Amino acid sequence: MASTQQTVALAGSRCEGCGAVAFPPSERCMHCGVYGASRIRLSTQGRVWAYTIQRFPPKSPPYVPPPEGFRPFAVGYVELPEGIKVEAVLDCEEFTDLDAGSPVSLVATEPVPRFATVSHQGEAV
Ligand SMILES: [Zn+2]
Repeated sequence: MASTQQTVALAGSRCEGCGAVAFPPSERCMHCGVYGASRIRLSTQGRVWAYTIQRFPPKSPPYVPPPEGFRPFAVGYVELPEGIKVEAVLDCEEFTDLDAGSPVSLVATEPVPRFATVSHQGEAV
């Protein structure tokens, strides 16, 4: 699992006109309206911008509960150095680990972006 963490990255786009970064990637810039954007790999390190705790199982499908059964998990936004926020599942030991702009790293991109706190990665990997 540790070896794959170096390869995961989210694809975004950068506007040729104004340089604005978008996720998911977009042909047309939402800031200046210009068509034409280049694909970029987004940073895999970010900070928790806001989160909430999903305390009941989401509707299934599309949600697939894990074999061991549903457990509450955190979802929120991760702010990347590119200046955008990515909605993601957030892995952590304790939900309070996500407070106050905690640094997190991308651990998976499918089926949804998933980030984990540094302490969680250290213990779980
Ligand atoms: Zn633009």
